[in-house]
Amino acid sequence: MRKALIAGNWKMNNTVPESLKLLTAIQHHLKTVPSDVDVVIIPPYTSLYSIGISLQGSAIQMGAQNIFWEDNGAFTGEVSGTFLADVGCTYVTIGHSERRQFFGETNDGINKKIYAALRNELVPIVCVGELLKDREAGSHFDVVETQIKEGLSGMHVRDAENLVLAYEPVWAIGTGKTATPDQAQEMHHFIRNLVEKLFDAPTAGKVRILYGGSVKPSNSAELLTQKDIDGALVGGAALSGEDFAEIIRAAPHANL
Ligand code: PEP
Repeated sequence: MRKALIAGNWKMNNTVPESLKLLTAIQHHLKTVPSDVDVVIIPPYTSLYSIGISLQGSAIQMGAQNIFWEDNGAFTGEVSGTFLADVGCTYVTIGHSERRQFFGETNDGINKKIYAALRNELVPIVCVGELLKDREAGSHFDVVETQIKEGLSGMHVRDAENLVLAYEPVWAIGTGKTATPDQAQEMHHFIRNLVEKLFDAPTAGKVRILYGGSVKPSNSAELLTQKDIDGALVGGAALSGEDFAEIIRAAPHANL
């Protein structure tokens, strides 16, 4: 059984008061968190402490948008997994396409960040996905395979079963273009087979694979009922309490 996971990436949006207001809106529209769905909000660093306090006793969990690979020391401007866990994070996104595209993140650095997350008992949400030119060239499976092989390099099977992979075709992020449910399912199936090859069948059966890329209330049900789609990483629509709550309600309940 894989528990559905809906994560909302707020990106570089929301001051502390705005973050608290959005959390209140989510709670208002959601009423109760379904017991068979993990709900994670991912605010900017500056809101983590306040949101962490507001979430005490709530079933909604909190993640961070990035992590550094060392736990402390002379790394000006970086934030470690130790600090993220300290303010109440239980998840962290790693290798988001915006990090790869604008901040030069490589599969090697992403690999080190994944180990930093695991060391600090944070669930890594490892983002992969091809550019439009890769899909047009027919190389999208190769690109995603390389990102996963290099990103997860050296990983022990007991760690692999706890991680979350997020397939986010870069051409669908923030563009309003969504992969069709068939395109998404095809890639998710490919990723699950790859996890089986790299680790084993039980691990492939446990790893959760999220879809991300312009997920919204109008397309979420169709995407989320695909066999190998275990949840969503939501950007733009996560900034509306009403839309995010609606996507959570569309989550499949206990996928096999
Ligand atoms: C994202 O930021 O991971 C994302 C999928 O954004 P959007 O939903 O806005 O496409």
